[in-house]
Amino acid sequence: AKSREGNAFEYFSKKFGEAVKREFRVKTALQQADYHQEFIMNYQPIINVETNHVTGVEALIRWESPTLGGVSPGEFIPIAEKYGYIHSIGNWVLRQVCTEMLALTQKREAAFTVSINVSVQQLESDTCVENIKAILAETTFPAAHLILEVTEETSISNSTIVRQSINDLVKLGIRVSIDDFGTGYSSLEKLHRLSVHELKIDQSFVQDIENTTGIVEAIIAMGKSLSLQLVAEGVETQEQFEFLKQTKCDYVQGYFFSKPLPLDAFEKYLNQSQQS
Ligand code: C2E
Ligand code: CA
Ligand code: CA
Ligand code: CA
Repeated sequence: AKSREGNAFEYFSKKFGEAVKREFRVKTALQQADYHQEFIMNYQPIINVETNHVTGVEALIRWESPTLGGVSPGEFIPIAEKYGYIHSIGNWVLRQVCTEMLALTQKREAAFTVSINVSVQQLESDTCVENIKAILAETTFPAAHLILEVTEETSISNSTIVRQSINDLVKLGIRVSIDDFGTGYSSLEKLHRLSVHELKIDQSFVQDIENTTGIVEAIIAMGKSLSLQLVAEGVETQEQFEFLKQTKCDYVQGYFFSKPLPLDAFEKYLNQSQQS
């Protein structure tokens, strides 16, 4: 028994040591990163369930580090948040997306929305609203076409500065969406008081739809009762799509329609889907 415990301890301490080293490497590479060389934005279409038209897009960052190779945002964004790099990365993302999406947004007659993920640390900064306002002015991107995605946890934050930032952004005409909805602990009462416009049903529910139909129906009913738009993300199959259509979910997004694409491929996707 003793030697087994010893092995388990060695095993976990080795794993822990590896994780610490990896985090340090990612942090160092982020610190030295040349954003314009190493980051690009990918764009995933968001489809209106009723019309089958692409009516929006979510921007997702991609990083190709010269020392580490491709690193997923699921890994590096939390590290950027922890070490304070999220402010400069977040500003780069906003400026890049507003610049790349401006022409496309203006070209399309119907209101086309561009969704960008923002971290809680960005909203906690007292220059957050001024920053975003300045980037919109600089790029001339219209606030009315911008949706900022915040996680459910962020949206119900007890921090007055976070709540103030969200309210001020909404006053600028920007819409706010609650990402990963259903994974947190927001109550109907809390949601009612928030000035948000949209709920994104977490992909874990969509992908396990055989076992979560009740939950998804309840989220959709609740969202509708609060006059919120509903988006289901992570839609991978026809069956999932059919269920969401029946349940009157407003928008869908996922590999079943398209993976997140580089700008040129996204533009091609848009042109092709317009013809059909
Ligand atoms: P998220 O905002 O919840 O984004 C959804 C994730 O699901 C994305 O992963 C997307 O590529 C992936 N996805 C989309 N459709 C499907 C599908 O049908 N099946 C499956 N299995 N996955 C699908 P990604 O791009 O790796 O991003 C991971 C997370 O990193 C995002 O989760 C978001 O929290 C964060 N993130 C990405 N870009 C940014 C950014 O520019 N700023 C900030 N602050 N966070 C970002
Ligand atoms: Ca998101
Ligand atoms: Ca999500
Ligand atoms: Ca997420």
